[in-house]
Amino acid sequence: MKNKKQDNRVGIMGGTFNPIHYGHLVTAQEALKQFNLNKVIFIPTGEPPHKTLAKIASAEDRYLMTVIATASNSNFIVSRIEIDKKGKSYTIDTVRELRKKYGKELSLYFITGADAILEILTWKNTEEIITLCSFIAATRPGYNISRIEDLTKKLFNNNEDKISIMEVPALAISSTDIRYRIKSGRPINYLLPEGVCNYILKHGLYK
Ligand code: NAP
Repeated sequence: MKNKKQDNRVGIMGGTFNPIHYGHLVTAQEALKQFNLNKVIFIPTGEPPHKTLAKIASAEDRYLMTVIATASNSNFIVSRIEIDKKGKSYTIDTVRELRKKYGKELSLYFITGADAILEILTWKNTEEIITLCSFIAATRPGYNISRIEDLTKKLFNNNEDKISIMEVPALAISSTDIRYRIKSGRPINYLLPEGVCNYILKHGLYK
């Protein structure tokens, strides 16, 4: 529920972060404020279940870029929980582990892109995941929310405590566009933190 003050409200920022950019950071900050979260744990996906590894930077590179991007915010933490896991990263395993670590009283909010949440019915153990956490679906400006609304009706029984849509204008920035820009020699500065920009250049990522 929005605007409810508690000590045990944690956001899980799930994503491939290939690479992390200002859209992700603004999303996390906005969720922190709107949902009165105590902290946001960024969890870069180790081996995304639905992607071919050849197309993404290594898990370690994506983890380090996430650490660089979030270093100055004391409410942001980065977890290696999926990076260190062998095999595919399933959200159900991550959420179960966080519940075990932090206890049953914790309110968990899984924050990710609306397009990713639309695929939730294809995820492992969907029924269990939705009992363990609530969802914050971040959308880009102009996003057609009707499919998310349909999902809210179907899967969450219109329960607004279980899924919220959050429009984030900064999500006009996208990882796909950043990778495309690098490939075609166009500038990427001001789309992502300078440290992440320098990391990409230093390691020759996405060329
Ligand atoms: P994706 O398909 O690469 O991303 C879908 C859209 O959401 C893209 O537009 C993406 O923009 C945006 N997005 C991704 N993460 C975001 C975030 N944290 N905040 C705001 N926008 C975000 O999705 P993904 O990154 O691979 O997966 C998202 C999460 O869902 C991950 O935690 C993943 O592990 C989980 N997931 C779990 C399963 C499963 O358990 N079976 C299956 C699929 C996904 P950018 O490209 O700009 O980031």
